[in-house]
Amino acid sequence: DDDDENENILNNEKVIHGPHSALKELIENSLDASATQISILCKDGGKKLLQITDNGIGIREEDLEIVCERHTTSKLENFEDLEAMETFGFRGEALASMTYVADVAITTARSGEKCAWKASYRDGKMREGTKEMCAGVTGTTIAVENLFYNVKTRRNALKSGAEEYAKILDVVTRYASSRPDVAFSCRKVGETRATVNAPLVVLSSSGGGGSEGDREDGEENEPSPSSSSSPSRKNDRLQKCRLERIGQIYGPTVSKELLPLRLKTNNDKLEKKMAQFHMECDILYSNANYKAKKTTFILFINGRLVECSALKRAIEIAYQSVLPSSSREKPFVFLSMKLPFKDVDVNVHPTKREVHFMHQEEIVERVQTALEKALVKSNAARTFTVQTLLPGAQEKINS
Ligand code: ADP
Ligand code: MG
Repeated sequence: DDDDENENILNNEKVIHGPHSALKELIENSLDASATQISILCKDGGKKLLQITDNGIGIREEDLEIVCERHTTSKLENFEDLEAMETFGFRGEALASMTYVADVAITTARSGEKCAWKASYRDGKMREGTKEMCAGVTGTTIAVENLFYNVKTRRNALKSGAEEYAKILDVVTRYASSRPDVAFSCRKVGETRATVNAPLVVLSSSGGGGSEGDREDGEENEPSPSSSSSPSRKNDRLQKCRLERIGQIYGPTVSKELLPLRLKTNNDKLEKKMAQFHMECDILYSNANYKAKKTTFILFINGRLVECSALKRAIEIAYQSVLPSSSREKPFVFLSMKLPFKDVDVNVHPTKREVHFMHQEEIVERVQTALEKALVKSNAARTFTVQTLLPGAQEKINS
């Protein structure tokens, strides 16, 4: 029995590395529940308390009993088959894992219900007698307290509150960059001012900054239809909203140096001769004016925040090969990639962070080449304007 318990704790440690990885799962659940507002509250960097409140669809009362059991997922009905669902990472594991290494409490209300319900959880189960009715608005609040209270080695391995909070902010700002249609805020207990406050981005019909001339056509060969609801128009709008959002959270000095780039595989004849795969990429990349000591690479695949070290390396190489070698500046790149679900393996790593996907080498190479081309273009434009002031700048064009 003791062994069983140890096994359980070990398994759950793999999924939950610290407050930030718990938060990633919680944010994803809120987004899956169609939330448009997500507020996070932390105490001691999330170690004492990590609480997330959303205005999503809520959890049914009858599901409260089982929601923290392993393999409980409501997401099966939304997917055509189990395989697609599993590759997307819905394994009904995140909440369960948290209850084995922390105190978890859920308060939730479905729309149209007169009241909310709350309950507390431990070790994959609802704690007896804790379920009760309460007041509440539509949505869900999940509080995770005393993370690793029962795993001393993990608890000791956590960093200071300030450092853990920095990791939490990193997750929040990354998700916020990708989803300008959702308001995000993050605050420390005891502070009235939020550390991150990103209200919903609403574009005025005129387009709200970013001239049309900035558009890069990448490999997209589609005729640009005039209908405002066409996929490519929708993408342009989303990218503009993301720029605005990145301005809200990273500051205008970052967002004003970012350019959009879109890549998409076609199914034309040439393409058919090569390996068949489908991929769509929406990128925001920093130009040569952007100054930073560290690379910021924000990667989403099919709407999930992930990591891909091969892609990150390729992007750094693209910048190194195009920017003058005297420049030690590191890039800022936001990349949202859509791939067929079956092509993505999120299960190579227990926390689902590092991903593998089919045709990875070709896709990475394409992104690198497209970015290099785009950088040469934007860098040449810049060098040209600088050139009138500095006659020595010419050589950079061809380097
Ligand atoms: P998964 O997301 O893989 O289904 P989780 O353990 O993350 O597994 O969540 C289990 C289930 O709990 C979800 O399928 C969903 O039904 C429910 N759930 C979790 N968080 C929320 C939320 N914020 N709003 C509504 N339902 C939620
Ligand atoms: Mg989940």
